[in-house]
Amino acid sequence: MAKLLDKQRYKCALGAMQTVQAIERALPILHSGPGCAQKLSESVGSSGYFSPNIFPCTSINEKDVVFGGVKKLDSTIENALKVIDADLYVVLTGCIPEIVGDDSGEVVSRYEDAEKPVIYAPTAGFKGNNYKGHEQVIDAIIDQYLSKSDKKQKGLVNIWADVPYQDLFWLGNLRELEKLVSELGLIPNTIFGFKRGIENIRKIPEAEFNLLVSPWVGLGNVKKMERKFGTPYLHYPTLPIGAAETSKFLREVGKFAGVAEEKVEEVIKKHEDYYYYLIERYADLFLENRVINKQFTVVADAQYTLSITKFLANDLGLIPAKQFIVDDTPASYRDKIKEEFKNLNYGVEAEVSFDTDGYKIHEEIKNHDYHGYPLVLGGYYEKEVTENLKGNFLNIAYPVQDKVVFDDSYVGYTGGIRLIEDIYTVAVSRFN
Ligand code: SF4
Repeated sequence: MAKLLDKQRYKCALGAMQTVQAIERALPILHSGPGCAQKLSESVGSSGYFSPNIFPCTSINEKDVVFGGVKKLDSTIENALKVIDADLYVVLTGCIPEIVGDDSGEVVSRYEDAEKPVIYAPTAGFKGNNYKGHEQVIDAIIDQYLSKSDKKQKGLVNIWADVPYQDLFWLGNLRELEKLVSELGLIPNTIFGFKRGIENIRKIPEAEFNLLVSPWVGLGNVKKMERKFGTPYLHYPTLPIGAAETSKFLREVGKFAGVAEEKVEEVIKKHEDYYYYLIERYADLFLENRVINKQFTVVADAQYTLSITKFLANDLGLIPAKQFIVDDTPASYRDKIKEEFKNLNYGVEAEVSFDTDGYKIHEEIKNHDYHGYPLVLGGYYEKEVTENLKGNFLNIAYPVQDKVVFDDSYVGYTGGIRLIEDIYTVAVSRFN
């Protein structure tokens, strides 16, 4: 039966043009209808050297549906190579060319000997959402641009996390993960954001291992790299937020990488000392205020629903009401993710549901007894329902309209403190 998508939380797979855009000097070339890029772009830090308004596009029309659009694709790639100075050109296909059967892969293969790399990812909207589209782009890089390397760089770790731009905090989160990993004496390698790009992409096969920090997005990619390059991977499903999870994260990464235990504990101690110094200073706020909530709900993608649930339960001692994952997580990953919600400290477990129907989610929030004001962290859609219940609301996931994010982050010890600040700022300002 068709699924209901009330209150859209993601885009179609062609939204992966944002994944390409997050790679410095990489250019998406769209083989799609003229409206696709317009529909999928938004003004959330996506202007710059390349922006959706200048992405080359075949703008295919009725004639191309009848006669095929491969000629147009060929000339669009040819001209993009002539007039736009990029390091990597990524052809992304939308619904129309895939429905009419254009062989875009064959057209792209004609550019094998071009001066700059041209690759292709099938990202028709009917194939899935932009989480899947993101994986398709990474797969295209692995399959069409990279090859196995005999040279391995000691301590080099490729770090992968959730989807750029879809996750508004992507840049800050990646930088914080890099910092944590380098404190263990390892060399982080990421491909997204400022001064990363093609040079770092080339280093991918030289890494000692891939570190995937995500409940499910990217798991197929790291498995592919294991098969193709022989690179082992560590899958850490929870984005570490706050002391409890970040210390656990450092211990697991340290163990996997063979870092001496004393070194790992030294890094953890340094951070925890400061973290708990800050927490102690505000202990009275946590213990005596009467406006923070006993129970909370997170409505977000698997990444944030899981990581924030763990943080609020493990670090702040709050009780989870029902949690909602709204990224259309593929069925094969769901049971494992559910298990993680049972893996909270103090024997606490959280009920979680995978749902894309915003109406149903809001009805459940309205009908739940939160034993006081509800605390809801979610997309902007949850603002009204929370305010009607006189609850506290924080906009942490797509769509984000309450916050401008340049390179802010909720990752790590620092990120945990930022999240506490944001939550308690909302709570204390309700009586202003
Ligand atoms: S669903 Fe298809 S037609 Fe619609 S924006 Fe995505 S690629 Fe374009």
